[in-house]
Amino acid sequence: MNPPGRMRLLALLVLILGAPLAAAVAAAWGEQVARQSLREEGHAQLALFSANLRTELEKHRAVPFVMVHDRGVVELLADPQPDARIAMNRKLEAIADALPASALYLMDAQGNTLASSNWNRPDSFVGQNFAFRPYFQNAIARGEGHHFALGTTSLVPGYYTAHRVVAENRTLGVLVLKVAFNALEAGWREATPRVAVTDRDGLVFITNVDSWRFHSLPAEHPDAPGTMPGIDPLPWRLDPHGGEVVTVEENRQRRSYLTASMALPDGDWTLHLLTKLEPAYARARQAALLAAGAVALLVMGGLLIAQRRHAMQERLAIQEEARAELERRVADATAELRARENELVQAAKLAALGQMSAGIAHEINQPLAAIRTFTDNATVLLERGKAEMVRDNLLEIASLTDRMAAITRHLKGFARRASGRQSAVDVVSAVHQALALLEARRRRDDVTVALDLPGEPVWVNGEDVRLQQVLVNLFTNAGDAMRGRPERTLHLSLRTDDGCAVLTVRDTGAGIAPDDLGRMFVPFFTTKEAGEGLGLGLSISHGIVRDFGGTITAANHPDGGACFTLTLKRTEAPA
Ligand code: ADP
Repeated sequence: MNPPGRMRLLALLVLILGAPLAAAVAAAWGEQVARQSLREEGHAQLALFSANLRTELEKHRAVPFVMVHDRGVVELLADPQPDARIAMNRKLEAIADALPASALYLMDAQGNTLASSNWNRPDSFVGQNFAFRPYFQNAIARGEGHHFALGTTSLVPGYYTAHRVVAENRTLGVLVLKVAFNALEAGWREATPRVAVTDRDGLVFITNVDSWRFHSLPAEHPDAPGTMPGIDPLPWRLDPHGGEVVTVEENRQRRSYLTASMALPDGDWTLHLLTKLEPAYARARQAALLAAGAVALLVMGGLLIAQRRHAMQERLAIQEEARAELERRVADATAELRARENELVQAAKLAALGQMSAGIAHEINQPLAAIRTFTDNATVLLERGKAEMVRDNLLEIASLTDRMAAITRHLKGFARRASGRQSAVDVVSAVHQALALLEARRRRDDVTVALDLPGEPVWVNGEDVRLQQVLVNLFTNAGDAMRGRPERTLHLSLRTDDGCAVLTVRDTGAGIAPDDLGRMFVPFFTTKEAGEGLGLGLSISHGIVRDFGGTITAANHPDGGACFTLTLKRTEAPA
């Protein structure tokens, strides 16, 4: 599989495994955090609801307590006259309205109601006996009784507070205040959490959920004292693990709540608060979505970066390949050029050789003729027995053959192909050798050579044959330029400065036309007649000198004539 395909597969795997994992972890964490904040919020609200309920109860507490000492109450119980009862009815009604209370009524010691705030309503308590009610019995027995109950006549649930009326150590009766919690419940209904207040039997008597009223806590609830016969349990299902969670069936829907309970001080009541868990679940879902999204984004981002990188690497590889190919071609072309150049050098050399051979033939013919003469003379002298003179002739012949050998040696060296190996070359001897090669020509053209060379060798980086070739070319051109000129002097001077050897080749010819100065070194540029010049000498020389790491430039001398400057890199003398 190719790398991008592998990357995509890996990304898909990470996505398939990583996204659900991240979602699950994030959901658990999100729910945990949300639950914790809901729990804290629940406890705060529980305290608020409890304070609210206690305020409601405290508000009425003092009323019966004060009223049992009311003179009208005591007098009526002592002597229940009809007028006094009517007046008491009105009084109780006014107080109950002002509180407001569900009912405020007065009973004698036998539990008969003598006066009541609801005296003029159909459900009036007047004349009824409530001796069976626990609050009455407790008030008679202990002075005070509290009880939560459903009104027997009104069927309205309420909280009864009963106080004993005593005069001169005699129990006269009981004053009862009944408070309903409709207003409180109405206020609570607006609140979002579900609230239920249970009594000591676990029975719900105040709640903001109407269907829960008068139901008991389910038997498994930690606050439930036990099941109560004839009373339905609340539709709560406790979570066996969570402990704090209940699921409630509502309109055939299940909802989960976080519960918190609080026992109310000095009472047997417990306040239960149920906070919806939905926000925690929503938070968990959000966190899961976010985490999955983040994983997807990361994977996609990573994939994109990886693909970009891969594309870049491919591009670089292509570029590298193209560069290598180019290098290869340049190398091939250079090699080919070099081969051609070598061929050209060789051709130029042969051409020069051709030019020179005429001069050389002349040069050799002279000693040959001389040798011939010397041998003829020697024969005659030998016949005459002049051995001494024969010896002189033979010495002359020997020196003449030495000279001829020197000429042919130079020619052999010149015709040899360049070795291509550079080493230390002595410029001074190269100049002498080149001059020797051209000696015949020099004499023919009657050229004076003015030398200004150092006495010791000057070593430069190069190759002797090729350096000679450059010099022969420069000297030949100078000779050509001076042909037919009145003054024919070749000035050669060699100077050395730090790291360089500078040879100037100056002639007394006509000089170089300004237009030609820029193209002297261009191959095949020549001003000579066809058959006389190829126009390759300077361009080849230029290439050779460049190979040596040097330069060659042309200029006109102020005193007339052309002046070529050859600058070469100096090097150590060979060991
Ligand atoms: P060729 O000698 O075959 O023409 P070169 O490359 O050696 O080729 O020289 C190119 C041209 O440069 C010559 O034809 C000539 O016009 C000019 N040239 C070279 N040397 C000199 C010189 N010393 N004085 C004047 N012109 C020169």
